[in-house]
Amino acid sequence: MILRIIIYAAILYAIIYALRGIFGSINKQVNRDERGDGSGGDVAADDEMIVCPECGTYFPSGIGIPRRVGRERHSFCGEECAQGYSLRGGPPEEAGP
Ligand SMILES: [Zn+2]
Repeated sequence: MILRIIIYAAILYAIIYALRGIFGSINKQVNRDERGDGSGGDVAADDEMIVCPECGTYFPSGIGIPRRVGRERHSFCGEECAQGYSLRGGPPEEAGP
């Protein structure tokens, strides 16, 4: 009698634990989506790979550093690239062949 109650309690606990894991992962996804829509709408989705206009490195847009240069908005792979680009006011000059 008591043993059966304990088994039921254990099963119930396992179900709750599993559900909490599932809902936990859903909540994380929702938070990521909300963060992407937060600002202006011209920021790319989280996991999209974009090119740093300064050094040409591919990186996920989620870690990019947004910087307004002149009339355009760019995302850079790092603070150094953002500074270099904005100080020059444009893309780096192509070296001759
Ligand atoms: Zn860069």
